[in-house]
Amino acid sequence: MKNINTILIANRGEIASRVIRTCQKMGIKSIAVFSEADRNGLFVEQADSAVFIGESSPTASYLDQDKIINTAKKMGADAIHPGYGFLSENVGFAKRCAKEGIIFIGPNPKAIDSMGSKSKAKSLMKKHKVPVVPGYQGKDQSVERLTKEAVKMGFPVLLKATAGGGGKGMRIVHDADGVEKAIEAAKRESLSAFGDDELIVEKYIASGRHIEFQIFGDQHGNAIHVLERECSIQRRYQKVIEESPSPVMDEKLRKKMGAAAVNAAKALAYDNAGTVEFIYDDISGDFYFLEVNTRLQVEHPVTEEVTGLDLVQMQIESAQGLPLSVTQKDIKGSGYAIEARLYAEDASNDFLPVTGTIQRFEFPEVDGLRVETAIRSGSEISVFYDPMIAKIIVHDATRSGAMRKMQYVLKNLVCQGMTTNQDFLLHLTQNGDFQQGKYNTHFIANHIDLDAIGKKESAQYALASIAATLHGWNQREQSRTLLRSIPSGWRNNFYGPQSEDYLIGSEDFKLAYRYQNNQQFEFYQDDTTYQTTLIEADNQGIRAEIDGVQYAFNIAKAGNEYFVHNEHIGNVTLTQKDRFPMKEVEKVAGGYDTPMPSQIIKILVKEGQAVKSGEGLVVLSSMKMENTIEAVEDGVVEEIYAEEGSNVAAGFLLLKLKSE
Ligand code: ADP
Ligand code: ADP
Ligand code: MG
Repeated sequence: MKNINTILIANRGEIASRVIRTCQKMGIKSIAVFSEADRNGLFVEQADSAVFIGESSPTASYLDQDKIINTAKKMGADAIHPGYGFLSENVGFAKRCAKEGIIFIGPNPKAIDSMGSKSKAKSLMKKHKVPVVPGYQGKDQSVERLTKEAVKMGFPVLLKATAGGGGKGMRIVHDADGVEKAIEAAKRESLSAFGDDELIVEKYIASGRHIEFQIFGDQHGNAIHVLERECSIQRRYQKVIEESPSPVMDEKLRKKMGAAAVNAAKALAYDNAGTVEFIYDDISGDFYFLEVNTRLQVEHPVTEEVTGLDLVQMQIESAQGLPLSVTQKDIKGSGYAIEARLYAEDASNDFLPVTGTIQRFEFPEVDGLRVETAIRSGSEISVFYDPMIAKIIVHDATRSGAMRKMQYVLKNLVCQGMTTNQDFLLHLTQNGDFQQGKYNTHFIANHIDLDAIGKKESAQYALASIAATLHGWNQREQSRTLLRSIPSGWRNNFYGPQSEDYLIGSEDFKLAYRYQNNQQFEFYQDDTTYQTTLIEADNQGIRAEIDGVQYAFNIAKAGNEYFVHNEHIGNVTLTQKDRFPMKEVEKVAGGYDTPMPSQIIKILVKEGQAVKSGEGLVVLSSMKMENTIEAVEDGVVEEIYAEEGSNVAAGFLLLKLKSE
C-alpha cells in the first residue's frame, strides 16, 4: 500500500471543493491550483495550500501538464486528483504522473485509453458480451462505406465522432436523403473539434432513457457496481437533472444491467471510480452500452446520497492500492435522491450561457438538502469555464418527497445578478409526467414550452415592479436622510402619481404610484390598484403588504437592472427606463432629482432666479451620458441642494422650484 498524505487537485470550482472536503475528513493535505480568473475562488481558500499556475484560459493553466506536474513536485504532493473534465480522461497525463512517481487518482492508463475512443470501446465491449447499440464502428471510414452501413441499418441513425464527448460531435440523420452530406459535415466538424474525423454510425433509439451505473474497481481484481442513476433529462445531449434510483428500474433489470456494468469493469481490469452509460429502449426494454466515463462523474452525489458512501474517499483508497472496503452485497440503496444543475444560462434563448457577477447566493434550510458549489455572493461566472453555478441534491425516503423538497429549494433559493435556469428547473420538476417518472431523453424538447419559462402572469409582473419601485424609493429615502440640508418629509402627500417605466424582456411595463403616508402607497397598473404598505426594507430586499398579503422580495440591483425574486413570482429582471423627463413628478413636487446615480457636472441656475419652462437647470453625467434636467414649468428657483462635481445616488434631490 502506498501512503497518500498530500493531494494536488488539478481542477477548479465545485469539484475542487468536493475533493478538498474528503481530504480534510481523511486528514490529507490538499493543494489547489488556480488560474488568474480563480484567484478569489472559494476552493482556493478552502484548500490547505493554493498555487497560482497561469492565465485564465484552460490551456494556460488547468490543462497545462507541465505546470501541474511541477507544482505537485514542488509542493510534495503524493497524488493528483483530476476531478472531471480537464485532464481527467487524458491518458498521456495519467502516464506522465506514473512516470514522475505521482499517484493519479483514477483508473490505470490502459483502461482510460481503451475507453477514450467510442469505436474501440464498443468493439471491446462487444467482445465481452456487453450489449452495444447496433451500428458500425469499423476501420473503413470512407463516405461510401459509412453511407452503406447507415442505409443497411435503417433510419434514423446517429453519427458520432469517435473522439467526441460532453454531448458534442453527434448528428441525427432521419432518412437516406442527404446522408452522404451529413457524413461529410460530421467528419469536418469532428476534425475541427477533436482533431480526428473518425465516426461511428449507430441505430438511433427513438425513445431512449439514459441509465448509467457507477462502477468501482480496485487493484486486486475486485469490481462492483454502486447502483444506477438516470440522466435522461438533457438539453443538447447534456444532463441537467439526474436521479437514483431510476423510475423504470426493478430488481430484475438492475441485476441484468448491473451485471453488464461489472462485466465492462472486469473487461477493463478497472481499478477506480467509473461510470458505464447505457441507453435503455423504453419500448422494447432492451439496453445498450454507450460509453465508460473513466473518472468521477458530475452527478456522483446522487449515488452518495442513496448509498451513504463517499466516492472520493473510495477513489483515494483504491489509488493507494487498498482493496475495496465494500462488496456487492453491501451495496444497498436507501430512499431517493435527485440532483438539479443550476446553470448561468438562458432557457428561453436556446440555453445560451450567460456571464456576470452573482450578487447574492443563498439556500433555504431543508432536511436532506446538499449543495455542491464553489460560488458565493460576489463570485464571477466568467467566459473561461463551464457556467454551472451549483448542483442541488435532495434526498428523501420517497421519490415524491424528494421531488417536493427539490421544488421547495428551487422556489426559495436566491441566486441573483444574472439569468439562470432556476425557473426552468422548477417548471420542469412541476411537470406531471416528470413527477410520474414518464420521460425519455427528448423530454425537454417535447414537453417543456421554453418560451413560457421566462413569461409570467401580469399580476406577477405587477408584484415584481411594485417591489423594485419600493426598493428604489427606500434607497432614495435612505440617501436623503444622510443629507442634513434636505428638509425631512419634503416628499409628502401633495404628490401626484409618479410613474415608473420598466422593460421586462423586451416589453414595456408601466407602473404608477402615489405615496400616502406612514409607508403606505397606492400602486396603479392598467386598471388595477394595489394597496401597499412597505413593512421593512434593506439593501437586499423588501417586505411589503400588498392587498392584505405580506410578501418578502429579494432584490439585487446592477446598473439600471433590478433582479427581483420570491417564491410567488420566481425571477423577474426589470430594466428601469431612463426617466428623463419626469414631468408630472416634478411639476407637483417642485423638486428635481437624479434619475440614476450621477455626477453633477454643472448647475445652470442660481437661487431666486426666475426660469422658463424648458430652461436647463442642472447638467448630469451618468453611465457616460450627459443629461440636462430642464424646468417643466415657469417658476423661481427656491433652493439648490446640488454641488458641482459631486457624485450622487439615484433620486438625489437637486433643487426645488416654486411655481408662480
Ligand atoms: P458527466 O458525464 O460526468 O455527467 P457531463 O456529461 O455533464 O458530465 O459533462 C461532461 C464533460 O463536460 C465533463 O467531463 C467535462 O469534460 C465537461 N465539464 C463539465 N463541467 C466542467 C467544468 N466545471 N470544468 C471543465 N469541464 C467541465
Ligand atoms: P458523450 O460522450 O457526448 O456523453 P454519449 O454516447 O454518452 O456521448 O451520448 C450522449 C447522449 O446522447 C446520451 O445520453 C443520449 O441522450 C444520446 N444518445 C447517444 N447515443 C444514442 C443512441 N444510439 N440513440 C439515441 N440517443 C443516443
Ligand atoms: Mg456520455
